[in-house]
Amino acid sequence: MLQKEVIKCYIKAGRIASEVRDKVKTLVKEDVSLLEICNWVENKIKDKGGKLAFPCNICINDVAAHYSSSINDDTVVPRDSVVKIDLGVHVDGYIADTAITVCLNHQYDGMVYAINEALKQAIKAVKPGIKNSHIGSIIQKTIERYGFKPIWNLSGHQMTRYVLHTGKSIPNISTFGLSKIREGEVFAIEPFLTLRAGVGEVTGLKRTHIYRFHKTHRNLNKDADKLQELIKKRFNSLPFSKRWLNEPSEHFSFADERMEKAFSEVLAKKSITGYPVLAERSGKIVAQAEHTVIVTKNGCLVTTL
Ligand code: MN
Ligand code: MN
Repeated sequence: MLQKEVIKCYIKAGRIASEVRDKVKTLVKEDVSLLEICNWVENKIKDKGGKLAFPCNICINDVAAHYSSSINDDTVVPRDSVVKIDLGVHVDGYIADTAITVCLNHQYDGMVYAINEALKQAIKAVKPGIKNSHIGSIIQKTIERYGFKPIWNLSGHQMTRYVLHTGKSIPNISTFGLSKIREGEVFAIEPFLTLRAGVGEVTGLKRTHIYRFHKTHRNLNKDADKLQELIKKRFNSLPFSKRWLNEPSEHFSFADERMEKAFSEVLAKKSITGYPVLAERSGKIVAQAEHTVIVTKNGCLVTTL
């Protein structure tokens, strides 16, 4: 059972996340800068009194996850693209994680309908005692019923205070897992699908825009040590964007070149780790939907509706 105060934080984070998610939809248009969208989302979250649980992800077409603009990103939303926006808010460490897919070509509307339906059916089934793998089979069946293929190697995840991915996962396909969902647990459920002709699998690209603190390294040079301490203090173990380190508001008082060196050092020593951009292996278009739920006595409370 979660305490009342904790649930209040989850609900506040969820409300902010859903408001921002519903508004950003209207911003996603051909030729709009991805950096502008990321900044807009992140500023809106802060304006509404939330904190950033992770950088705004904006993934185009076959890119499924972990793309967020770098500080000088000049990429724009391509014509007829399928755009996933995934955003995270926390209030006192209690996280809301939610995502939508926006289609600029109506040809792909069916994918969005199917992914939303898969998420809806999964949420309907959540209650204490149900196997996580059962949720996965519901997601797979729903996606396949509409003629698409689930992405097998991406999954929903449990969340705890200041920890985005932890504990149990919720697969997007049928598995043999035995773990069960319990009352008071919090999950992000996030089905992904691609076209039936796709492989249904994501693979890491050689680009990374999102990082998180991993462990304290004791023998870093002075700048790197300072950066490590700042990262630890500022982001806890939550994911952050390298772009944030260059924002004056973040108080990382480094000149650009020193920052680059310090950053390479903390990365090389594994004081921080990165999340490489993930794309569908056969280059097929991907759609995603995501909500955060708190498991209650008889079902679940969706905080990001
Ligand atoms: Mn997400
Ligand atoms: Mn998630």
